[in-house]
Amino acid sequence: MRFVVDGMLGGLAKWLRMLGQTVEYDTRATDNLLLEQASKNQMILLTRDEELHRRAVAKRIPCLSVQGATEIERLAEVSKTFNLSLEISMAETKCPECGGNLHEASKSALSGIVPEKSLALYDKFWVCNTLGCGKVYWMGSHWRQIHNTLEKARLLAKY
Ligand SMILES: [Zn+2]
Repeated sequence: MRFVVDGMLGGLAKWLRMLGQTVEYDTRATDNLLLEQASKNQMILLTRDEELHRRAVAKRIPCLSVQGATEIERLAEVSKTFNLSLEISMAETKCPECGGNLHEASKSALSGIVPEKSLALYDKFWVCNTLGCGKVYWMGSHWRQIHNTLEKARLLAKY
């Protein structure tokens, strides 16, 4: 699924990218630009702005007015509305920072880029393909937190 996310939902944009969705997110984008992007590229607009939501509905642009107060509530809401899986698949996950695709990289290629301690502790590493981003990811200590959040969101989405 493809989403345009307004500037107030940066956290949600990152989560959706991790879940493998295509997400446009630019904090500098004006309301007009968000509407144009969604309409032109047939993307779903996610917003917290009631006024923007009204304008999208008037233009028949698919749009969700996101109500959730926490990241978990917002994830559950989007998952429920669009029947979106809340499981991370490393084959599909995208760079949370820029939305680029990731490729698996060998440890030897990452020497000097990733701290030696992490290289020694973990086996698999992924690098963002986007020029100028190139962020490296691995299933470090934050991974448990990511899974906890998704687990809670899955439970909430069931109700
Ligand atoms: Zn990236």
